[in-house]
Amino acid sequence: MHSTIFRGATVVDGSGAAPVRADVAVSGARIVAVGPGADAPAASIVDASGLVLAPGLIDIHSHTDMTLFRYPMAESKAFQGVTVEVTGNCGLGLFPVESGRERELADYLELHDFTLPPDGLGWSDFEGYAERIDALRPALNVAPLAGHAPLRVAAMGSGDRPPTAAELVRMRHLLADALRGGAWGISTGLIYPPGSYSATEELVALARTLATSGSLYASHIRGETEGLFAALDEAVAIGRESGARVQVSHLKAMGRNRGRAKEALDMLAAARSAGIDICADHYPYDASATTLSAVVPQWAHAGGVTELLRRLRDPALRPRLLEEIGAAIAARDGADGIMLSNCPSPQNARLSGERLAGIAAAWGCTPAEAVIRLLVDEEGAVGAIFFSMAEEDVATILADPWVAVGSDGHGLDAADAAGEATHPRSYGTFPRVLGRYVRERSLLSLAEAVRKMTSLPAARLGFTDRGLVRPGFAADLVLFDPETVADLSTWADPHRYATGVVHLLVNGEAVIRDGALTGNRPGRVLRKGMTGRETKTR
Ligand SMILES: [Zn+2]
Repeated sequence: MHSTIFRGATVVDGSGAAPVRADVAVSGARIVAVGPGADAPAASIVDASGLVLAPGLIDIHSHTDMTLFRYPMAESKAFQGVTVEVTGNCGLGLFPVESGRERELADYLELHDFTLPPDGLGWSDFEGYAERIDALRPALNVAPLAGHAPLRVAAMGSGDRPPTAAELVRMRHLLADALRGGAWGISTGLIYPPGSYSATEELVALARTLATSGSLYASHIRGETEGLFAALDEAVAIGRESGARVQVSHLKAMGRNRGRAKEALDMLAAARSAGIDICADHYPYDASATTLSAVVPQWAHAGGVTELLRRLRDPALRPRLLEEIGAAIAARDGADGIMLSNCPSPQNARLSGERLAGIAAAWGCTPAEAVIRLLVDEEGAVGAIFFSMAEEDVATILADPWVAVGSDGHGLDAADAAGEATHPRSYGTFPRVLGRYVRERSLLSLAEAVRKMTSLPAARLGFTDRGLVRPGFAADLVLFDPETVADLSTWADPHRYATGVVHLLVNGEAVIRDGALTGNRPGRVLRKGMTGRETKTR
């Protein structure tokens, strides 16, 4: 007997092929039949007429590892139809943990707003971390990349210097160890210290470790404002020198590069023509979000958070800091385009959702002075949203067939997180593409949009049994209403789940049934190279 049959669904299978009407049968954790056959007995028969059945969405650029210990249901992602969260992005991540450097890594992760488990970072490597996540029983599957920053902290600490030969060897060993355990590649975050302290040759050396296993090199590149084109050049060079598959994370044209998205896409196309395996991903919003400390120059971060705060308080360094922070604010389109999110302290909590220009005016200081005061008050941990992109660029990037959709957001429980300013991408990325850009604007077809959320990211990562509706593939499936699927999350009111997802199966079990969460948590860590074992044991 089958466990679930979707009867009469409009199947958009993830390949980009036109939709077909079919029945889809699931047995245990696998899809077993696509086509007629709805009379076979099944524990659950779903009338799917008028609804689209697609592979569960693969969020190739997720930061749900930041929130998973707080929200193992990843509600905001489940309601978008996501079944696989690719974590460890932007160089950030929770493994490896080097003995004696636990505090250094934990401080770093807290600066980036990670919720750490109450019992601390109680593992040392990828396998220990994966076991801890499996024990947490997440609702969605988790496919981790190894973050460059924890590798670097483990091998050499947070200093602003190149690794010694021995430290580089150690970093490569730690990476190889994570890959052997099943990590899907490495991510780098080249605007965030300590990743920003690495030279191209360090990154090429690490990427060479990936090439033999066909693992992914995903990068938040070294510049997204003035430095965009030089940073893309570097990503291309890393692909060329190492042979690794390269993914440019959250491609965008910001600030002074507004209007230049097409040039960026052309650069990637030229590199592909030259034989380099390079693609990108993207979220469909005209604002980005990161830590406010991203406007502080790199040299001031050297040595970690404690050193950053010491420098921000040092009167001798103040003139230089003010000048460089002021220039960084200008490059991102000015203080009026910067909105604060997540000011944790009670005295500043009400500033969440306010613009930096308004805060500086109220305090009677310059925006750069306000940045220093905020970072000192909050011990570095202030989130910020930067309104510095053009809608035409967003559409140009989204329409490119080599660009996957990735949220850059994290899983949140709307009731619990209410009141915290956050980027709506955590709630709306995928339904926004399906509603606003497919249904309302016809920027791309439904089949093409689904491909960019399923088989395209699956191919980038090297998934062999996810991303398509095919017999034998994992039963990660989303059933949604193409007439109503939409994002509801806005800047003013971000904590609103998307609408339109009717059913969501993860490993064959319903996480959403009839539009409501079931409470089931069937997700687990996906480990590269372990497909056969998965099939046998599930
Ligand atoms: Zn990033």
